[in-house]
Amino acid sequence: STSTKKPPTPSPLRNSKFFQANMRILVTGGAGFIGSHLVDRLMENEKNEVIVADNYFTGSKDNLRKWIGHPRFELIRHDVTEPLLIEVDQIYHLACPASPIFYKHNPVKTIKTNVIGTLNMLGLAKRVGARILLTSTSEVYGDPLVHPQDEGYWGNVNPIGVRSCYDEGKRVAETLMFDYHRQHGIEIRIARIFNTYGPRMNIDDGRVVSNFIAQAIRGEPLTVQAPGTQTRSFCYVSDMVDGLIRLMEGDNTGPINIGNPGEFTMIELAETVKEIINPNVEITMVENTPDDPRQRKPIITKASELLGWEPKIKLRDGLPLMEEDFRQRLGVAKD
Ligand code: NAD
Ligand code: UDP
Ligand code: UDP
Repeated sequence: STSTKKPPTPSPLRNSKFFQANMRILVTGGAGFIGSHLVDRLMENEKNEVIVADNYFTGSKDNLRKWIGHPRFELIRHDVTEPLLIEVDQIYHLACPASPIFYKHNPVKTIKTNVIGTLNMLGLAKRVGARILLTSTSEVYGDPLVHPQDEGYWGNVNPIGVRSCYDEGKRVAETLMFDYHRQHGIEIRIARIFNTYGPRMNIDDGRVVSNFIAQAIRGEPLTVQAPGTQTRSFCYVSDMVDGLIRLMEGDNTGPINIGNPGEFTMIELAETVKEIINPNVEITMVENTPDDPRQRKPIITKASELLGWEPKIKLRDGLPLMEEDFRQRLGVAKD
């Protein structure tokens, strides 16, 4: 039969006066780039207890060092492809490598993380009656045939390419979210995140903003991958975190695009980084990788109307903030 199950009622203990003040929040992938900024923001609210589950594949304890030992914070070494039995009220499910070089490194593991990992977090949400937010991606639109992209677009994704472990993995994760919602009444939220940048990105993770900034600081040529006319839209991480929290706290399941509609070609990005960080570096053209999307720009009408969200930090203002962090970590002062 196709009966719809009701979500479980939260345990009486968690509804008691003693617990009422506190919201216990799980952040999977919380040791990563976006996750650690999200944890910082959630920890600012004294009513929140935050639990991070991370296997440190691309993340690091260092990103969370200011919270380790804090009474409202807990860090668990855990791989989301394994079941997790804890009691929480909300789940921000971010665990998944985001950079192409890392997610292509072990594609089968990337699929398991997206599919089995999301299934486990949904099983957890179902067991304890938690609300769950998935950080999906603009990659679900693939190499988009409509431009710019709104949430109604179904995408143009190669199912058997080298990026598919990530794109198709996230598409299945979205499907699982909606099936748990329809079949079991789980409260879900889906964010489709567009390219995000900021402090704490892995210096050598191969993404374009981190590459260009590290190259400019080291005085190495900026490597634009051919043809260089492909576009991306870059959102500063504090804006992203603000959007994710609004989505979690609001009433809409999504999917909702969260990204900055400012669109740049990779040549324009290289020229901007060169101008701001190091006017002496060269810009060189190098070979690209397969299936690189040619254009990407979010329509954010939904985020703006339903969440009252729009990005505040322009690329030109965000790049210097990231430069500062990279200079510190690379040990190269500005001259
Ligand atoms: P990140 O690689 O810095 O963080 C991912 C975190 O997940 C890391 O700490 C990593 O150790 C952890 N992780 C990976 N596999 C795991 C597993 N099996 N079990 C437990 N932990 C695991 O990446 P990010 O940029 O912070 O991305 C966070 C989320 O946002 C990801 O879901 C990503 O797909 C999504 N997203 C990011 C971007 C972006 O531009 N950064 C764009 C679209 C979507
Ligand atoms: N699961 C988990 N934590 C929980 C509850 C479930 O990790 O607190 C996992 C469980 O191991 C299973 C998945 O989530 O693999 C889906 O759980 P669900 O109850 O929906 O499915 P079932 O266990 O009936 O297959
Ligand atoms: N890119 C580039 N130089 C680099 C790294 C990436 O020109 O050193 C390009 C890449 O070809 C793509 C864009 O930058 O068109 C964004 O790549 P990234 O890996 O940062 O993110 P994604 O492809 O996942 O959007």
